[in-house]
Amino acid sequence: MNYKITLDSDEVPKQWYNILADLPTPLPEPKNSEGKNQIADLQKAFTKAGLEQEFATDRYIKIPQEVRELYMQMGRPSPLYRATRLEKFLNTPAKIYYKREDTSPTGSHKLNSAIPQAYFAKKEGVERLTTETGAGQWGTALSLACNMLDIECTVYMVKVSFNQKPDRKNIMNIYNGNVFASPSENTEIGRQILKENPDHPGSLGVAISEAMEEALLNENVKYSLGSVLNHVMLHQTIIGQELKAQLEKAEEEPDVMIACAGGGSNLAGSLFPFIKDKIDGNSDTEFIAVEPSACPTLTEGSYDYDFGDVNGFTPMLKMFTLGHDFVAPSVHAGGLRYHGMSPIVSLLTKEGYISPRAVHQKDVFDAGITFARCEGIVPAPETTHAIRATIDEALKCKQTGEEKTIVMNFSGHGMLDLKGYASYFEGTMQNAK
Ligand SMILES: *Cc1c(COP(=O)(O)O)cnc(C)c1O
Repeated sequence: MNYKITLDSDEVPKQWYNILADLPTPLPEPKNSEGKNQIADLQKAFTKAGLEQEFATDRYIKIPQEVRELYMQMGRPSPLYRATRLEKFLNTPAKIYYKREDTSPTGSHKLNSAIPQAYFAKKEGVERLTTETGAGQWGTALSLACNMLDIECTVYMVKVSFNQKPDRKNIMNIYNGNVFASPSENTEIGRQILKENPDHPGSLGVAISEAMEEALLNENVKYSLGSVLNHVMLHQTIIGQELKAQLEKAEEEPDVMIACAGGGSNLAGSLFPFIKDKIDGNSDTEFIAVEPSACPTLTEGSYDYDFGDVNGFTPMLKMFTLGHDFVAPSVHAGGLRYHGMSPIVSLLTKEGYISPRAVHQKDVFDAGITFARCEGIVPAPETTHAIRATIDEALKCKQTGEEKTIVMNFSGHGMLDLKGYASYFEGTMQNAK
């Protein structure tokens, strides 16, 4: 039995795959809102390379050798595992595989984009990157990547999360990141908000504003985002390209592929290279995006132009959205509580290439605990969404007797997010909605 399918270091892909070259219909352009020029602000705030990749139409984009080396040094290619103990527990004829992005030193797929973003910034002479973080995974990955490339990193962490999760600040400090509870005294917007309400709990919208303000006011400071944008989806496609090589090695053709979706990056990364085959008419794999029913962007949102942040600092993007002022109930999967979705993932969902599914919080923790007890790995609260759908698909196969091959992206581990599990066992978990 092949429990673990690995690739050698030098099999790390040499190119990122850019699905903009293959979309069935063109991606709608970002727009300014009336009387504002947010596109100009973005151009000032982001690195040149980031912007170039955002609109690039080449099918493949070369990964600089230095970036490939860093991917290898951080343990890539990541292994693909077969979940035989879970299969047995479920008594399903289905085969279940999971791609292990939790094996990254920071515990999730986020480093796959943090490394190239820090690399291009360094190359352009940027001295410091600023960003926001909610749950903390992105701030952690960017802190490490910046330190490896010898630039500074400032992370604005939503104040409530900052206070609830002291270990997240701690780990970012270990990686040499500078972490501030947002709203902070560092920025004009932060000071203004604190003056009106010294006890403001902060929000992702405020944290984005603080991080962007610094980048707009300082020549050598740029702003960095960990999901949603096209260039982040692009960087993550190393996951799916590795996965393709691994499935070929295992002589498997996936029938169903599953990933959770917050801003869309781990889903895009793991599935886009396979969705290409479907667009080309060479595959009938089913692709499932899983989100919390407390933040049902793809299943209940509208496909419309909306801002990427609460305050309207970003241009308007055509995407599935619950409205930029939507405040998701505080479910434990902080990384899935975003009102919008990657415009590319949105388009592919609209066109029927991706089937979205919403699942309830208690049901995802049930699935996460089942997985941990069978396979030994404690999944991140976000990842449990993909596990829920994987188990449900495997149980369907038990009903029908079909021996489907189900492949799931395991986006991260939950060893720094154990609070959600605690509230599950204490019985204090809200089954939001
Ligand atoms: C950030 C995060 C997500 C959600 O973000 P995407 O951009 O949708 O991938 C999912 N899982 C983990 C472990 C994360 O850290």
